[in-house]
Amino acid sequence: MSEQTIDFKSKSLPQELIGIPEEDSNVVSNLLESYKEKYRACIEPILAKPESVDARVRTLETRLHEVNRKRAEHYGRKYNPSEILYVDRIQAVLQSDSINQSLQENGLGSFGRFDANAATHFEIGNFIVVFVNNFEDRDIDAYDTAKKLRHEMSHAGSVRKMRGYQVDDVRTSLERYRVGAQLSSMKKGVTLGLVVDEGHHAIEDLIFDGQHPEYRQVDPFLKEIPTSDEIIPNGRQKYNALREKLVADGVVKATEMMMCYWKSEKIDMSGTAGLYSDYSGLMEQIYAGDPDFFLAGSELVYADKMLAFAKKVEQTYGKGYFNKLMSLQDRDDTKPLSEEIGKNAQTRA
Ligand SMILES: [Zn+2]
Repeated sequence: MSEQTIDFKSKSLPQELIGIPEEDSNVVSNLLESYKEKYRACIEPILAKPESVDARVRTLETRLHEVNRKRAEHYGRKYNPSEILYVDRIQAVLQSDSINQSLQENGLGSFGRFDANAATHFEIGNFIVVFVNNFEDRDIDAYDTAKKLRHEMSHAGSVRKMRGYQVDDVRTSLERYRVGAQLSSMKKGVTLGLVVDEGHHAIEDLIFDGQHPEYRQVDPFLKEIPTSDEIIPNGRQKYNALREKLVADGVVKATEMMMCYWKSEKIDMSGTAGLYSDYSGLMEQIYAGDPDFFLAGSELVYADKMLAFAKKVEQTYGKGYFNKLMSLQDRDDTKPLSEEIGKNAQTRA
């Protein structure tokens, strides 16, 4: 869900990440590997035991790697499979203080207990952290993990050219290593395309849940990804029923996503986070149910093809709209653009 961000201006930046020789892929490769290994060493005590990871989730992982590989090949890229680190939520809660301390000592940021770190794709090091054991019920837990894994793996399989860090040079070196092309793109400190990128992946989350079958039909790669109902029958229904009950009981707000909930644990195992609909909402509005528009968005995210998408946006929503859309800094800024679409629709009607 969330993206790992590193403040390159802060002192916590691993010093070896500064000044990477631009073209020396061996040096960059070693640094990336050492970043991952350092991170893994810090979270080792809370890594999930192999038997805690549902077999259905493992199967999905294999299929998603395959889809990413095929898609990358189709667009002339080489897929570098992300390693998945499964973390045990219960252990993460119990040991959060010591884990955070060790991450901070190593300049690796901190590990949110519940919030943004439900799942993360780390661009530096190319690995994914996903929590398991978030819920008592096996199906609910597997569904929740599968959904987050799918989301992060779609980040891992994308071009990511729209993201950027504060020090562009470092970003460029790392990204260039990862996919063999120059990717970073920033304008006056604003990361271009963040909302478009995140929004597109958030719509694919909905597709995984069986929504927008018209989009799934036109994308040959998405078609190969099973829906959540196919992998974990009843998982989604059970998850939604639990959420509705917890909303009714006042444990979870209607505007929140539940991150974990264990009734039987003696420690506090309830956690929530903001809904993801701010991202998907605007992009759903922009695609407006048009599969061709969705495909143009997909090619932007997975193939770095910006022109077709930009043209479609400007033709539909007016000159200058693409620029505004790509300059959005985060989900909180989406409202004016969303209202603009509403107004245009009224004018046209
Ligand atoms: Zn995301």
